[in-house]
Amino acid sequence: MKPECLAGWGRTAPSRAYIARPHQLGQLSDLMESPAPRGIVARGLGRSYGDAAQCAGGTVVDVTGLDRIRQADLTTGQVRVEAGVSLEALMRAFLPRGWFIPVSPGTRHVTVGGALAADIHGKNHHQDGSFANHVSSLDLISPTGPRSLTPSGPEADLYWATAGGLGLTGIITEATVSLMAVETNRVRVDTERLANLDELMAAMEAGDEAYRYSVAWVDCLAKGRSLGRAVLTRGDHATLAELPAKQRPAALAYDPRVRVRVPAVVPGGLLNLATVRAFNELWYRKAPRREHGRLHPLTGFFHPLDAIGSWNRLYGSRGFLQYQLVVPFGAEDTLRLCVERLSDSGCASFLAVLKRFGPGDPGPLSFPMAGWTLALDIPAGAPQLWSLLDGLDEEVAGCGGRVYLAKDSRLRPELLPNMYPLLDKWKAVRDQVDPDRVLSSDLARRLGLVEGP
Ligand SMILES: Cc1cc2nc3c(=O)[nH]c(=O)nc-3n(C[C@H](O)[C@H](O)[C@H](O)COP(=O)(O)OP(=O)(O)OC[C@H]3O[C@@H](n4cnc5c(N)ncnc54)[C@H](O)[C@@H]3O)c2cc1C
Repeated sequence: MKPECLAGWGRTAPSRAYIARPHQLGQLSDLMESPAPRGIVARGLGRSYGDAAQCAGGTVVDVTGLDRIRQADLTTGQVRVEAGVSLEALMRAFLPRGWFIPVSPGTRHVTVGGALAADIHGKNHHQDGSFANHVSSLDLISPTGPRSLTPSGPEADLYWATAGGLGLTGIITEATVSLMAVETNRVRVDTERLANLDELMAAMEAGDEAYRYSVAWVDCLAKGRSLGRAVLTRGDHATLAELPAKQRPAALAYDPRVRVRVPAVVPGGLLNLATVRAFNELWYRKAPRREHGRLHPLTGFFHPLDAIGSWNRLYGSRGFLQYQLVVPFGAEDTLRLCVERLSDSGCASFLAVLKRFGPGDPGPLSFPMAGWTLALDIPAGAPQLWSLLDGLDEEVAGCGGRVYLAKDSRLRPELLPNMYPLLDKWKAVRDQVDPDRVLSSDLARRLGLVEGP
């Protein structure tokens, strides 16, 4: 077997590993029993932006071949699936029967295993929490044997160490997910344009509780009185009665398509300061000042970028970083400072989104915590990027916030215990299931979650 090159979605830190592609669960136990010297880590659809699903010189287990739907109860919405089943596959199978995924990230190309291992959140975190809260049980193959885990059962600590544990407690093989009942494939959306960050935060604080979904696109290049100007979209699933009569017969149809595909090579990248500035201006101006109750297709509302195949190539061969922070409520000044520094630096963030999180869950490495979360895409070659982000990390850690590890590729390890104060608890649980450090990844080595070079 030859090593293959793997990267995260941001394409910034590729490394070579041996790839195992099991199709049967038994093959996973064999892999755990004869581990590679540089360790093993699972990989889903590779949508984590950084190096979480890579393991230089070790074995990466591509779980996407384990993609069977085992059981489905269409009266309760409980589905038992293998971990390589994607969120898209879940929606294709169950939306026509009136069931939607409980937590939807910005792409549908994420596996159930990857969704659990990053404990992903969506635009509804303030109402519904993160993915691990919608799973009633999971099966894990760890170096010390297979386990069946539930969120409040005898090994609940291991369940929560696995949720957000980035594959470092074992390979998730199956999970039971609770889907959400919906009547249609549309979202009823209210849109508002806000002139600056303060207006935006005030609007979100006052109104988010009335909506299941809320997200703001923020213009991180705007300055002065327009700093943080934004387009806020909030909504909920439309009911059948809200659909025009002619749409009702196909109310639950679901067949998302890729509209265009970015070629393999985009010299120099298309997303630079000039194009992003022009895009931001257009996007802000094109949004309605205030619009109420427009019906949007689910795909456009939740996964607009999936219409462009391989859109990450738009950033050119150097790739891009995704930086996502959360600061607790009460630390609004830190959030403002971060947006000011980004705007001053002129870092061209084409996608900057602000959301409000509700309370976090018991997962020691789970990212969401009650507060404001800002996510940014930034081209990797941007000048002074490293020092800018190092500075933001300090500010975020200093106010009790953290950055999202599933998107990280550059955090300095010394900040990790500040950002994740339950880190030692997570390590103690991990030590029990993986005392010999069979599980490892580029991220785990970089952040000192496993010892060794
Ligand atoms: C366009 C885009 C938008 C996104 N939006 C959001 C968002 O809104 N909210 C959010 O939370 N995230 C978001 N993400 C990040 C993404 O949801 C997570 O990184 C998710 O983990 C990716 O799943 P995956 O199947 O691609 O896993 P991979 O990227 O392949 O792996 C991610 C991690 O999960 C582990 N893992 C994967 N499968 C298993 C398994 N079976 N057992 C154990 N560990 C496993 C890997 O080891 C790795 O540590 C977005 C990503 C993209 C590209």
